[in-house]
Amino acid sequence: PSLSKVLILVTVSSGGLVAYSDSKSHHGVNGADSSQIDTTKKKRVLVLGTGWAGTTFLKNLDSSTYDVHVVSPRNYFAFTPLLPSVTCGTVEARSIVEPIRNIIRKKNGDISFWEAECFKIDAKNKKVHCRSSQQENLEGKEEFIVDYDYLVIAMGARANTFNTPGVEENCHFLKEVEDAQNIRRSVIDCFERSCLPNLSEEERKKNLHFVVVGGGPTGVEFAAELHDFVREDLVKLYPTAKDLVKITLLEAGDHILNMFDKRITAFAEEKFQREGIDLRTGSMVIKVTDKEISTKERVNGEISSIPYGMVVWSTGIGTRPVIMDFMRQIGQTNRRVLATDEWLRVEGCDSIYALGDCATINQRKVMEDISAIFNKADKDKSGTLTLKEFQDALNDICERYPQVELYLKNKQVKNIIDLMKDRQGNDNKESVELDIEGFKSALSQVDSQMKFLPATAQVAAQEGKYLARCFNEMEEREKNPEGPPRFRGTGRHRFRPFRYKHLGQFAPLGGEQTAAQLPGDWVSIGHSSQWLWYSVYASKQVSWRTRMLVVTDWTRRFVFGRDSSRI
Ligand code: FAD
Repeated sequence: PSLSKVLILVTVSSGGLVAYSDSKSHHGVNGADSSQIDTTKKKRVLVLGTGWAGTTFLKNLDSSTYDVHVVSPRNYFAFTPLLPSVTCGTVEARSIVEPIRNIIRKKNGDISFWEAECFKIDAKNKKVHCRSSQQENLEGKEEFIVDYDYLVIAMGARANTFNTPGVEENCHFLKEVEDAQNIRRSVIDCFERSCLPNLSEEERKKNLHFVVVGGGPTGVEFAAELHDFVREDLVKLYPTAKDLVKITLLEAGDHILNMFDKRITAFAEEKFQREGIDLRTGSMVIKVTDKEISTKERVNGEISSIPYGMVVWSTGIGTRPVIMDFMRQIGQTNRRVLATDEWLRVEGCDSIYALGDCATINQRKVMEDISAIFNKADKDKSGTLTLKEFQDALNDICERYPQVELYLKNKQVKNIIDLMKDRQGNDNKESVELDIEGFKSALSQVDSQMKFLPATAQVAAQEGKYLARCFNEMEEREKNPEGPPRFRGTGRHRFRPFRYKHLGQFAPLGGEQTAAQLPGDWVSIGHSSQWLWYSVYASKQVSWRTRMLVVTDWTRRFVFGRDSSRI
């Protein structure tokens, strides 16, 4: 197919801009006359991003029926859940990545890939502006325009600094493979620097002070990995560092791992304290300089500064500038992520789909869904529910939208969650009515920033698979546009709406112990869950090649320990 491509060069005032067209699709360049469109040609699907959402979509798409193009600044898929293991050399960076060309080769070459980043989406003209992610040449970076029939935005998110001064310049993030590699080098740097002969004790301590900001799963897992690396490998090689090394974990909220069951949170906090990790909850970072990190205590407003050797910033996700620009263009302002309907179509843009970390299902739709669950639970249509019915309905809602549970927890609407958790059948209708009102008013205050589905690989992958299935059936459904009777009606889509199925989550805590929280409030913490973690993560690898590499890395670590060379 690559031979059939025709590249047309268009010179514009900003420099050499290349517009892409292709003889096998019907696309013109810079707004071709739509009357000339040959509808017998395949429709072009343009996918932006090769992360969890984009790659799962590609793997499941029947690419023979579309003209598929992929644009991403990295030519590989990265298994992000193992990134914390890369920071300390438990697994190697190359073991967790799969070249995207390997994945598309298995699709009989029906897909083409360009290593570039999209910097502008022009929804009105159905065009995407891209720029090569290769090093700049003399004329600047190569730019080109691609047109599309369907656009799939799966560009993920970037690290969120909350505009805290000095974070961009002085902290490490843990989002990409390069970040994990930089952290690994930086850890060893700190240890080597601390051994230099001309340093005072204070300077050695400063170099060996590792600060992790953010008590979410990534921050906690990194702190645990680092603690293991230091205890199991580094102190043997740097004996003088043994009593000087310190790990501090800063969390602005009251607890770490606040999206997990409170038993897991309590276990993790106790474990960290026992192992000497300085856990400081209620501590908000207000500034980072090249030498110190300043925090403000939430309780008493006290400000303090701590010298550090290395800081890793892991406080959640923020919006990519290109997505922000696109949201402004389509009137989705004041939002953190793109709002889609339940079919993952960007609200107001029929042929644009968004999935993964850069998107969320619109709040209005979620509220409709929640009301429908309550209405269904109200079998006798009396307008009230028994406690049992109420608990079951809430359970349903929280399983479908795990973030609702987290939101309620954070807003201290604890009694509702406790009611749900206790599950003690009780027919006290009065209190239930009150709680339904409380619940509804709490939810109606959910701001438009809220992402109802968590920003996880699990959500992104399920969305990618769902959308691929819709695309695979598109032709069939177009012949029969009405679809099944229950989906008919204005504004409805031809497919079943997307439904997230929560399969549980892990929090590795170091020392070969993991916390696992599976659906139905099933919680397990300890060594057995660690083995479950190993099996799940080995099975979830995208190829046999990476599976072999990861398992070999784990075995190597068991036998020889982690490598501490600074390469
Ligand atoms: P990503 O996987 O981030 O992919 C985004 C893609 O878009 C990338 O290919 C990127 O190169 C590309 N892109 C970026 N900018 C552009 C552009 N301008 N133009 C075109 N393409 C672009 N989730 C779990 O479920 N379990 C876990 O254990 C877990 N652990 C994690 C650990 C870490 C350290 C991190 C960082 C995340 C973890 N996650 C985990 C979350 C999970 O990785 C994300 O939710 C998931 O990657 C989201 O998928 P995505 O496809 O939306 O984005």
